[in-house]
Amino acid sequence: MLDENEKEMLAAVKKDLNKSNMESVLTEIAIVKNETISLINNLEEWAAPEKAAKPLVNLTDDALIYKDPYGVVLVMGAWNYPIQLPLLPFAAAIAAGNAVVIKPSEVSEATADFLGKTIPKYLDNQCYPVICGGIPETTELLKERFDYIFYTGNSYVARIVHTAANKHLTPLTLELGGKSPVYIDKSTDMDVTANRILWGKCINAGQTCVAPDYILCTKEVEEEFVEAAKKVLKKFYGENPQQSKDYCRIVNDKHFKRISALLNSGKVAVGGKTDVQEKYIEPTILIDVNGDDAVMQEEIFGPILPIVSVRDVNEAITFINSHEKPLALYIFSKDKEVTHEIIDRTSSGGICVNDTIMHLSLPSLPFGGVGESGMGCYHGKFSFDTFVHKRSVLIRSLAKFGEKLQSMRRPLTTKELL
Ligand code: NAD
Repeated sequence: MLDENEKEMLAAVKKDLNKSNMESVLTEIAIVKNETISLINNLEEWAAPEKAAKPLVNLTDDALIYKDPYGVVLVMGAWNYPIQLPLLPFAAAIAAGNAVVIKPSEVSEATADFLGKTIPKYLDNQCYPVICGGIPETTELLKERFDYIFYTGNSYVARIVHTAANKHLTPLTLELGGKSPVYIDKSTDMDVTANRILWGKCINAGQTCVAPDYILCTKEVEEEFVEAAKKVLKKFYGENPQQSKDYCRIVNDKHFKRISALLNSGKVAVGGKTDVQEKYIEPTILIDVNGDDAVMQEEIFGPILPIVSVRDVNEAITFINSHEKPLALYIFSKDKEVTHEIIDRTSSGGICVNDTIMHLSLPSLPFGGVGESGMGCYHGKFSFDTFVHKRSVLIRSLAKFGEKLQSMRRPLTTKELL
């Protein structure tokens, strides 16, 4: 499906988010293909019963962990990566042997239509139905009893999904978001730092769950960063990002209005332009931002990067810890002590040091949140493991001599009889 419909897929994502083909291939299609290939290549090994360690008394027994499919899984995707987010868990749930209902987000309408029309051409529609629709359809869907739910989206809807799952004690994974901070230390290399932070902030116009949400640094570091950022943005998108083919748009009017209102916090140091007609918001850096400004009260999920100044790393750690646990935490520093101080004294879904987002690219690392940023994880083998129940199987031998070894657990009288 991914190979034969690439053109249609690229067109759908372009329509929803003005994503360039290069960005869609990199952040949507290639990821799903690679994970699917990895599932196919590893399936035999991952699905096979695993031999468990056993003590001497179980020498003649088999101790095994079976990987049983849960049964019927519901996968609910979000709109910001409308191919990747529903299809990655979908592929893993199928590989794990489940029947899967897939529910793409109605917000990325063109891509949802594409998936609704195309998946049934490739997969059994009874085992793997695609349900398209908005809140009323999802509300109905959530009344059904599922054996596992995998939800990606915001934490408000996550509570609705969690409540629905609770009714049937259905286990679930919640892949959520939050405000992912960046700490820039004075020891960093600023050109590399600006390049990597702005790439992470600007792909998909900031509509990425692990996008760097805000920066914490000293005033001196801020000045250096803003200068480097101006150069980087010109290099990425030219003098006018609105004319760049590589820069996305905000998904709909509601989000455009919400994000534009956040431009009133602090002072614009770079960018700041908007165009309601095109749902365009220029990559923008805000300085002189306080913790109680509007831009610091919610996940930005757009191309605005506020900088909150702190005196030192201790103040940065206190600031991070006074907020909900984020999905990602970024540190730019050459100083190992500073780096480990932050790693040791904070909590987040994941950490990437000296880059942004790239921790997601390793299938050997689990991807998921903690606390308000989610529960459970996936990617690589973690995806397969998400969708199987690990069933303990102990197969005992009936050999008589084994019974002698067990005599301690019988009542005294039985022990004497043997
Ligand atoms: P969304 O609006 O597409 O919602 C996600 C899903 O919830 C959709 O399938 C939608 O139909 C359903 N839904 C929406 N309202 C509902 C309701 N009232 N009742 C039942 N179902 C409902 O996506 P979103 O929530 O705007 O996504 C953005 C959020 O998702 C951000 O917070 C972002 O950080 C997070 N996110 C997390 C990840 C991750 O992997 N951790 C990835 C992408 C996005």
